[in-house]
Amino acid sequence: MNFERENIGRMQGYLSGEQPQDSDTIKLNTNENPYPPSPRVEAALRAISSDSLRRYPPPTADDFRDLAAARHGVLRDNIIATRGGDELLRLVLTTFVDPGETIVVTDPTYSLYPVLAQIQDCRIVSVPLLDDWSLPDDFADVANRVGAKLVLVVNPHAPTGSLTGAPALRQIAGRIDGLLLLDEAYADFVDPQLRYDSMEVLRHCDNVISLRTLSKGFSLAGLRFGYGIGASALIQPMLTKTRDSYNLDYISQQLARAALTDMAYAGETWRKVRASRETLGKSLSDIGLEVHPSQTNFLLARVPTGFPDARSLYAGLKERGVLVRYFPEPRLADKLRITVGTDQENERLLAALRLITDR
Ligand SMILES: *Cc1c(COP(=O)(O)O)cnc(C)c1O
Repeated sequence: MNFERENIGRMQGYLSGEQPQDSDTIKLNTNENPYPPSPRVEAALRAISSDSLRRYPPPTADDFRDLAAARHGVLRDNIIATRGGDELLRLVLTTFVDPGETIVVTDPTYSLYPVLAQIQDCRIVSVPLLDDWSLPDDFADVANRVGAKLVLVVNPHAPTGSLTGAPALRQIAGRIDGLLLLDEAYADFVDPQLRYDSMEVLRHCDNVISLRTLSKGFSLAGLRFGYGIGASALIQPMLTKTRDSYNLDYISQQLARAALTDMAYAGETWRKVRASRETLGKSLSDIGLEVHPSQTNFLLARVPTGFPDARSLYAGLKERGVLVRYFPEPRLADKLRITVGTDQENERLLAALRLITDR
């Protein structure tokens, strides 16, 4: 007997990037921050007593919500704290999208979206990005035409690194009939000179939710902590109805708060990542790869003809202890997605690449 719902029986689960447990591997495959979390996180961890685990944690992580609200210039009511950004995505789907309804994503996009759509048993329509990975001008019209209840846009984009400006996003939000989930998992790494500010979109449009995570910008992927920002009418149903009653444990709440009180430290890791993104991009280009400009902590590099193909490069790097990400999909199969590491890690990657490609 198979007791699964039919849609669950049909689906495949999410394939996580490889997580080797040995410490020798240079891990440039899952976009983790190469720098340790703030020393304040370490101190907060040491200050936790096991007795504090006897009681249930604050159910809605209000102290954290206040910090996040202050960071973005909004109110506590505009913030929901979640178990990673991934829990927010699940909450948005289960709260706002009925089975059978349609969600729109871009192609390519974050590979978790189709998995969540299958769990919710909703229809997913992929709109191809243009050749330069930008959104097509008629993106909002297409979304409306297919009756999208929810539109998911990663910005800056994964896996390409492209950034869509706030004015264009505001236009899309204003034109679509459904909700816009702006997945800003990588927003912390955007060059401040670009003055990208998605809050500008949220202030003007009441159908937008922004996803944030501590996994990348705050070096806390292992903590599982993220949050959503949006109009109170969008945040409240998730906060009071669909969220697991205690979705965030006491320890993670303490550490997440500590991280958000040390913006200077986090900002310094972002600055270093941006600087290394520049140098790594240049070095990869010097070797002969075609590197797409990135506002994230990773680079998408096309492997031109004349080189071993991208899959062999991926495998050759892995043999030499350097993990990068390879996606066997039509538009990505000739590319590698490479997380920006420390300069030392990037050098190891480059050395291995030069060896394999003979450049
Ligand atoms: C990392 C990531 C997230 C959220 O990850 P969590 O670790 O669950 O916070 C969301 N969207 C994209 C595109 C990501 O890369």
